[in-house]
Amino acid sequence: MSPPLLEVEGLTTTFDTDGGTLTAVDGIDFSVDEGETVCIVGESGSGKTVATESITRLVREPPGRVAGTVRFKGRDLLAMPDDELREVRGDDIAHVFQNPQESMNHCYTVGWQIAEALRIHRDVSDDEARARAVDLLDRVGIANASARFDDYPHELSGGQKQRAMIAMALVGDPDLLIADEPTTALDVTVQAQILRLLDELQAEFGMGVLFVTHDLGVVAQIADRVVVMYAGKVMERGGVLDVFDRPAHPYTRRLLDCVPELGGDGGGIPGTLPDPRDPPDGCRFAPRCAHAERACRTDGQPEEIDVRPGQRVSCVHYRDGRDPSVLDEDPPGAEPDSNEVTSGDD
Ligand code: SF4
Repeated sequence: MSPPLLEVEGLTTTFDTDGGTLTAVDGIDFSVDEGETVCIVGESGSGKTVATESITRLVREPPGRVAGTVRFKGRDLLAMPDDELREVRGDDIAHVFQNPQESMNHCYTVGWQIAEALRIHRDVSDDEARARAVDLLDRVGIANASARFDDYPHELSGGQKQRAMIAMALVGDPDLLIADEPTTALDVTVQAQILRLLDELQAEFGMGVLFVTHDLGVVAQIADRVVVMYAGKVMERGGVLDVFDRPAHPYTRRLLDCVPELGGDGGGIPGTLPDPRDPPDGCRFAPRCAHAERACRTDGQPEEIDVRPGQRVSCVHYRDGRDPSVLDEDPPGAEPDSNEVTSGDD
């Protein structure tokens, strides 16, 4: 079996703030294989964006500090000299961000920006760069690409801008595409088109995709595997069908309950994420978990346990000798609505 394309171990990202050290990502592990799509999902503030930005050291240091190991095709990106990392970024690994508006330079035409990215990454003439840029604009579905080459970003719709950003990400023919909420700012129809496009491009370019989203409906459409993050930690991971059909962690279950398209009630999860400067001593989800008990509040985040092949969960109810079926029903009166757990102790 070949090693993963991307292998992340013990990734920890902290920020020095006036109020103390903020731990955004706390010792997480995950991997992406060649040609697969892994979705990191969780609420805003769960650490998923910081985790993906830490991979290619996009986190500003200081005030940030990134530790752990990030192996990409066997090379540790966190230990790599800056000039080597610059070559990897945008060439072997490309990012697509949530807001194309902010990612584009509004003083230059869209086509020029793509052609310039090509000239940086490839030894090509101006004419070759222009021709390839038009090809890429065409490939990402921008109609009449040759004429749109000379449009400025403000002349494109939101969906067209995101398509252009995807074209720019493809200039280096990357092995890994990191896409951070790339469809969040788009309406539902355009979102579906962009997801379809990413799916097609992944097959065509043979890329691995690491996709960050808070939207489980999106995960259902594109993921092979899913990593559920909460407050800087991994709560559950597994194949998307397993996690969606048989979610094991109370947090995953509550997230799925929030999605009407997946049969949920569309409500939210009571309470808020813990302060990353002062996280709970035990399970990070305990202050919002209806099943929290004494064992949940000590000894750090529970160790991940296999619940079925490829699916792992961090919850005390899956420890040896326990019966996790108690999680199938909400204990009466144990619905916390704040960061304080008021019931459910053993
Ligand atoms: S039951 Fe305990 S360990 Fe499991 S998710 Fe709830 S608080 Fe965390």
